[in-house]
Amino acid sequence: MNPLREVLCSRCGNPAAIYLRYARLNFCKEHFLDYILGRVENTVRRYRMIRSGSRILAAISGGKDSSTMLLTLSKLTGKLDFDLVALHIDLGIDGYSSEARSIAEEVCRITGVRYAILDLEDLVGLNIPELSRKIRRPPCSVCGAVKRYLLNLAGVEVGVDTVALGHHLDDLAVYIVKNFLLQNLEDIRKLGPKTEGYDGFLVGRIRPLYEVYERDTALYASFVGIPYQSMECPLHSMGVEDRIRTFLDGMEEDSPGFKIAFLRSIARSIPKYPQPQSEVRRCSLCGMPSQSGICSFCRMTMRALGKPLGLELRGKVREIVSKL
Ligand code: SF4
Ligand code: ZN
Ligand code: ZN
Repeated sequence: MNPLREVLCSRCGNPAAIYLRYARLNFCKEHFLDYILGRVENTVRRYRMIRSGSRILAAISGGKDSSTMLLTLSKLTGKLDFDLVALHIDLGIDGYSSEARSIAEEVCRITGVRYAILDLEDLVGLNIPELSRKIRRPPCSVCGAVKRYLLNLAGVEVGVDTVALGHHLDDLAVYIVKNFLLQNLEDIRKLGPKTEGYDGFLVGRIRPLYEVYERDTALYASFVGIPYQSMECPLHSMGVEDRIRTFLDGMEEDSPGFKIAFLRSIARSIPKYPQPQSEVRRCSLCGMPSQSGICSFCRMTMRALGKPLGLELRGKVREIVSKL
């Protein structure tokens, strides 16, 4: 290509702002936004994520991924005929969570999506670092379990069909490879584009950014001009995930589009991965999903506070989300 020739948008012929290697397309800002919105719509349709007339609860962290998910989904509500509400969980992490919360609220206001906030310190009396110290488990493992529990509980109490998560292509590829290396094959089933709910106490999940790259979520948010949190959580620690990410990034660099092809083949082969051995059961203390008789949230709060809080929390969460 002549280096002096201006690169033009593949759609309108105006000067391009971005080149997408995986699609071999140049876009101006406007057509990049159209293209990403189209990718999200196609992903939702391809994997039949949203039923007409359904209600979706979007989990909003304040980061670029979930903000882009909320923005794009909010533009599709009329076309795909669904109702969208949002939830943010304030984890109480010093120097991080307060910013995340105010950005999440701002994005909901901009998009006009009704939202609720669950504040962990208000609900449990402890934040993530305190809970992690008390029960002597790594912060990210405690945080993941708390978020899963509260999100599902909120989904059940709001009465939504599905919870939408802002996981993008790059993160999902990393988790899938990690689970494959560790031979946690049942967990790979949970990382597909959607998982089904169960019997009124386990809400289904969808990932509308299943085929969207992380870089594109950041560009989308900044081209639209919505705020997003760029600071990384101070509790994040380098782990095997970062090494896998570097490896997969190298594959993508050599073969643009590799990650999309990988995730599509995973989505096709998910039915071949083993199902969990035991049926999903209800926690005998709070009625939420549990692998054994008592769910991990009731066990964690029992260890940290001397009493399980699951059941008590149901009433509080019901009241908070009742405005949605
Ligand atoms: Fe939670 Fe760990 Fe993510 Fe921080 S890095 S928000 S502690 S999962
Ligand atoms: Zn254009
Ligand atoms: Zn429980």
